[in-house]
Amino acid sequence: MAPTDEQSMTPDPHRPVSAERIAPRSNARCALSFDVEDWFHAGNLRIPPGHWAEMPSRIERSMETILSLLEEYDTIATFFVLGWIAHRHPSLVRRIRRGGHEIASHGFWHQPLSHMTRKTFVEDVRRAQVAIESAADTTPIGFRAPSYSIDERTSWAFDGLRELGFRYDSSVYPVRAPHGRYGWPNSPLRPHRVRTDLWEFPLPTLTLWGRRVPAASGAYFRIAPCAVTTMAIEQNLNRGISVVVNIHPWELDPDQPRVRTSIGRRLLHYTNLRTTRNKLEHVLRRYEFVTIRQMLNAIEKGGILARGLMPKTQVLGRSGEPIQRRAGEKLKNIVKERGAGPPINRPLHPR
Ligand SMILES: [Zn+2]
Repeated sequence: MAPTDEQSMTPDPHRPVSAERIAPRSNARCALSFDVEDWFHAGNLRIPPGHWAEMPSRIERSMETILSLLEEYDTIATFFVLGWIAHRHPSLVRRIRRGGHEIASHGFWHQPLSHMTRKTFVEDVRRAQVAIESAADTTPIGFRAPSYSIDERTSWAFDGLRELGFRYDSSVYPVRAPHGRYGWPNSPLRPHRVRTDLWEFPLPTLTLWGRRVPAASGAYFRIAPCAVTTMAIEQNLNRGISVVVNIHPWELDPDQPRVRTSIGRRLLHYTNLRTTRNKLEHVLRRYEFVTIRQMLNAIEKGGILARGLMPKTQVLGRSGEPIQRRAGEKLKNIVKERGAGPPINRPLHPR
C-alpha cells in the first residue's frame, strides 16, 4: 500500500545521520528540490512542445542517478513534476513517491508565465494536477513555475495557485537576473506568506558587497564551484534564512543530445554537466536536507511571525502546548501576559 502523505513525510528518528553533516545553528533549514523535466523541456533550448514527442527521452536514467544518490545518503527531497512527464512516465512518478519523497507540480506545458494569462495558467496547472494525481495518487500542495517565472508582473499566479488549493510556491528568484527573463529584485529572501494560506519559498542568493547574486540553484549550482554554493548556503543558514536548493535531472546528464542555439544559451545549458553529480554528492555529504513540505509544516507548527521570520525560540503553555507568537510580540511579554513557561530553544525538525 502506498504510504500516506503523513507517513511518508514523518522523518524516522532512528535513521542514521552522518556525523560530518553540518547542523544548522538556527531553525533555518535546507530543502533539496528537483524540477522533473526532460532535457528538451529546458527553456534555453527553445524546443516547441509540438516536437517533444519525437525527442529521445532521457528522464528515466537521469532520475535513476538522482534517486539512487538520495537513497545512498538517506535523504528525501521535493520533486516538482512536469505534468507532461507524469502523463508520459506515470511509473516514474510512482517510483519517486515510493522513495518517500514529496511530489509537487511544475505545471504541464512548461511555458513561462509571461506567455500566459491567469486563466490559461490555471488551466495548465489543473491539467498537471490531473496527470500527477492519476500517476501517483497524490495531490501536490507545492508549485514551481517554469524558468522561475513568477515576478512582479506575473504575481497574479499566486491567486491562481490559491484558487487551485496550493499551500506553497517556490518560483521567485529575489534577484535582478542579468538576462531579465526572471527575477523579483526586492522580494524577501526568507520564506514568507504571499497570500492567506499561501507561502513563498524563494530560490537562494548570496550577498556579496551588499549585492544579491543568485546561487546554489539551477545553472548557478552547476556552473559555480562548490565553494560558492556552500558559501551561499552557510551565509543564509547563519542569518537564519532557510535555503531551497534546486537541480534539474538533465543537469546530471553529460551525454544528452546537443542542440544548436545561441552561444549564450549553449553556455548556460551545457557548462559543467559532468561535474553536477559530484556537486550534488558534495552537498548531500555536508548538509541535512528536508522537503519543502516539511519546512512548511515546521513553520506552521513553530508559530512563525506574520512577516515570515523563523522563531529561534518556542514558548510552551502550562500544559506543554506550543503558544503561537503574534507578529512583533516580545517573548518576555508572552511569558508575563499569557502565563507561559520560560522560552526554550526548540529544534523545528526532530532530528
Ligand atoms: Zn522547468
